[in-house]
Amino acid sequence: MQRNNYLKGETMNSLKSKRRKIVASSVSMMLALTLFVNSTPASATVTTYGKWASRTQTINVVNTTSLTHWSNGAAKWKNSTNYNVSAMTGMGLTYYTLDVNKSNVDWDGLCTFTVTSGIITKAILNLNTHYTSQSQYTNSVIAGVTGHEIGHSLGLNHTSVVETSSIMHPYTFNDNGTLARALSPSTSDKTVVNNLYPLATLAANRVDLESSSDDQTIQLEPSWAVYYEDEEALTKAADLVIRGTVLETIGNYALKGNYSDYNTRVNIRLSDVIKGAELVGETITISQMGGTDGKVDVLSDHSTHLKEKQEVVLFLRQSSDGTYRPINEDDGIFVLRNSQFNNIATDQELNEQKIESAL
Ligand SMILES: [Zn+2]
Repeated sequence: MQRNNYLKGETMNSLKSKRRKIVASSVSMMLALTLFVNSTPASATVTTYGKWASRTQTINVVNTTSLTHWSNGAAKWKNSTNYNVSAMTGMGLTYYTLDVNKSNVDWDGLCTFTVTSGIITKAILNLNTHYTSQSQYTNSVIAGVTGHEIGHSLGLNHTSVVETSSIMHPYTFNDNGTLARALSPSTSDKTVVNNLYPLATLAANRVDLESSSDDQTIQLEPSWAVYYEDEEALTKAADLVIRGTVLETIGNYALKGNYSDYNTRVNIRLSDVIKGAELVGETITISQMGGTDGKVDVLSDHSTHLKEKQEVVLFLRQSSDGTYRPINEDDGIFVLRNSQFNNIATDQELNEQKIESAL
């Protein structure tokens, strides 16, 4: 059981040769095959987290240059469902879009929303021009991103990664450059939205918003620019692939009110460097989306915060401030559980052969 010895990691200095043995191991091949057979197809329809009190909404577009993109995204819902949403230029307080240019994140679009007792009271939609200005982002792809974020803003969660016919698929592109998500709502997406916003009045669904406390929870729903289908693709995309131990949480870094920038940081002691220039024994800082300023808690979908003492394998990109971020947040995090590394969100077992083949 070389594999288990490796995973328990009794020594670090012979890991390189051990990894080669793992590749040759038929046990490992059988495990990978079992995994493949056991991977389960996901549920068919998109789920919801809340809805606006009225099905007629106007989204204010702050940056006039992206009005076309948001209008095109809104039309995908307005023309095919009961969600009567339009985009127009102007400043808004509760439902608006903002262009951002962020190179230190893996998302091309983001929906930041507040929901109280099932009623959405605020939504801010971002296009990340760092990605959307790239040539593969044609106007129709960008309209798919804005349509996706408007889908979040009306109350929809992500579908699972196998659900490529839905506009609520989490990723824009595959790592081979092909389009990952449908650019328009599926029949199933439309049915869910029409059930959420029946043509009859929503008055009965209204809740007393006065009763909500001052302490708020803000939620983030990203659209990830690229889907990396396996550990080989993650390794190729990473600046650093490491194994290590979470030392401590070193606090939240937040510029108040900039919810998409809220993050939580942990230090990691490196026990193995699989790809990259950092050294075994060094400590690096990992930044994860979501955090708190003491009053407002920001939770990001697909970002499970690391805890002290966890043993992890991480696929990382370096940000300009020197910290590292897991690729697509949870996609890049594997945690040791019962002597094997599993993805922190999906529980999918880490496939070391796939890492090897990328090195
Ligand atoms: Zn999304």
